[in-house]
Amino acid sequence: MNPDRRDFVVAGAGSLLALAGVPPLVRQQGTHDLVIRGGTVFDGSGSPGVEADIAISGGKIAQVGRRLAGRGTEEIDARGLAVSPGFVDLHSHGDGSMNEDPRMESLVHQGITTIVVGQDGSSRATGGGLGAAADSARFARLLTSIDTLRPAVNVASMIGLGSVRGRVVGNTDRPATPDELRTMTAMVEAALADGACGASSGLEYTPGAFASTDELIALCKPLASRRLPYATHMRNEDDRLLDSIDESIAVARGAGCPLQISHLKTQGPRNWSKLDTVFARVDGAAAAGLDVAFDRYPYIAYATGLTNLFPVWSRDGGTAAFLARLTDSTVAPRIRAETLAKVDLIGGWENVHISSVRDSVDRAAEGKRLGSYAKSISTDPYQLTVAMLGRNRGSIGMVGFAMSEENLDRILAHPRGMVASDGGSFAIEGPTRSGSPHPRGLGTFPRVLGRYVRERKALKLERAINKMTALPASRIRLVDRGRLAPGLAADVVVFDPATIADRATFEQPFQYPVGMKAVVVNGVVALRDGQRGDRLTGRSLRPG
Ligand SMILES: [Zn+2]
Repeated sequence: MNPDRRDFVVAGAGSLLALAGVPPLVRQQGTHDLVIRGGTVFDGSGSPGVEADIAISGGKIAQVGRRLAGRGTEEIDARGLAVSPGFVDLHSHGDGSMNEDPRMESLVHQGITTIVVGQDGSSRATGGGLGAAADSARFARLLTSIDTLRPAVNVASMIGLGSVRGRVVGNTDRPATPDELRTMTAMVEAALADGACGASSGLEYTPGAFASTDELIALCKPLASRRLPYATHMRNEDDRLLDSIDESIAVARGAGCPLQISHLKTQGPRNWSKLDTVFARVDGAAAAGLDVAFDRYPYIAYATGLTNLFPVWSRDGGTAAFLARLTDSTVAPRIRAETLAKVDLIGGWENVHISSVRDSVDRAAEGKRLGSYAKSISTDPYQLTVAMLGRNRGSIGMVGFAMSEENLDRILAHPRGMVASDGGSFAIEGPTRSGSPHPRGLGTFPRVLGRYVRERKALKLERAINKMTALPASRIRLVDRGRLAPGLAADVVVFDPATIADRATFEQPFQYPVGMKAVVVNGVVALRDGQRGDRLTGRSLRPG
């Protein structure tokens, strides 16, 4: 064991040793709390790295420069390693398990130091999260509850427009009345005043999908003066992708606010050729003055609820109404036909991976492809799907394999592209090791640095870091995050660009990445050489 590491373990275990009656090691008080020495420092701006030390005190970066004088109470030897701002995950579902396990292991192991939650309208079938509750209680109180909880990473949240609609209009497919529209707009305004960092929609989920373009424009108007983004999981990401891009641009233009297209993709092989047109429309809108950007996770499969294979109209009115329609002979044949067309679009049942079930009867389906699983039990895949949805009250997670890796390279490399996980927070042990989640919750950021920077050379290291740090932080106006400079918050990661890689796979998702040397959150070491520090130092973040 090297001396640095022993030091850290002793420091981290200090409170336990004290409890056990072992006198704590007396440590030399340094000039700074922490000094990271001799690394190649990427400041987040997109500039190439330069060799420098970073001194941290009181949760802030005190100095950045070569061969800084003064010792740190703790020191990290970063020679030969990259030092960058902590990663800002602009589209995260980590709030789903934050209370269950605030250590947020899979996030810290990736180098994520800030998550932005309240995504997809907050109303996705797989669970609400912070943005969903944001309309039933004041946003400020929710952010305060994060500070009371003290999770391992910082948390900012959007307000979910689907949740706002669900609360005011209910779970039905009808236009909002003028009164309801006023109430909803006031709720968005109040959440922004209380610290929400944007507004999100999930237009493939109910009830968010029932909102018209005009309704979305009205609800996004409060974003304009604050320069905060409308972040959208678009109405469609396959055959009607271009219409959805146009609608997203129309909403942001109509409201006068920035646009963030969430997890941009061209789903289904027959839609892969549309990427040039997508870029042309986005770049065209930008040339005409729209502040527009997009994000993407580095995988060619997406995760959602299994109900998403079914047409939106069949899900009108909530789960019970949906399940009843599946066996109602007046509509069941039409539902079946539209669902089979959707399955065909993504390449067949073999491209549908079951990631989680609620009923233990179906546990054997977890981690399997629906096509081969149905075959193994001699059942028709559609009938099996309907039966499982009934047993699980609609609550089944799926992963769909339907994207092009060449397009993924180009989306990540595009100047308006950013990295975001769309993943949850997990641990390889404890309550959050459950189901068979999409590996993006455990691998996104190291995977971009390993597979897409080092191996596929889709983008340069300094550019990738920019897309993980300064760009997403500035998107939601986190003024003291995403860069390494004196006076800014000390969220820092140290990693080896030659070895960093994800390990989580669709078959075996519960594996942490490799090549991460250290992660610092608000000036405190959260991870070093595979060991977690004993303090959780995340806090709530507000724009501006
Ligand atoms: Zn989404």
